[in-house]
Amino acid sequence: MASTALACRPGCAACCTAPSISSPLPGLPLGKPAGIACPQLDAELRCRLFGQPERPAVCSSLAPGLEMCGDNREHAMTWLTRLERATQPGVKPLAAH
Ligand code: SF4
Ligand code: SF4
Repeated sequence: MASTALACRPGCAACCTAPSISSPLPGLPLGKPAGIACPQLDAELRCRLFGQPERPAVCSSLAPGLEMCGDNREHAMTWLTRLERATQPGVKPLAAH
């Protein structure tokens, strides 16, 4: 069977920026708000907590995928922002004017 695994794009960090994270992490004891770059990103936009127990489980379970990542960061930010809005009860998508 052909593999559909995708490598994470260096310098992207869309999934460390667009979504909220409900669990606490170093620097953000109440979790991470949506749309804010995680303070655990280093200068190369890599996770400083990779492989450490402080890394939130949601981060360890998230795998790159074509639907989410697309072929550029803008795609990933748009997709993840839509997902964030769709999964927040009581928060409706912005109305078009
Ligand atoms: S959105 Fe995809 S490519 Fe971008 S950092 Fe996350 S896993 Fe990597
Ligand atoms: S803890 Fe690491 S993987 Fe999770 S959002 Fe922050 S930088 Fe990204």
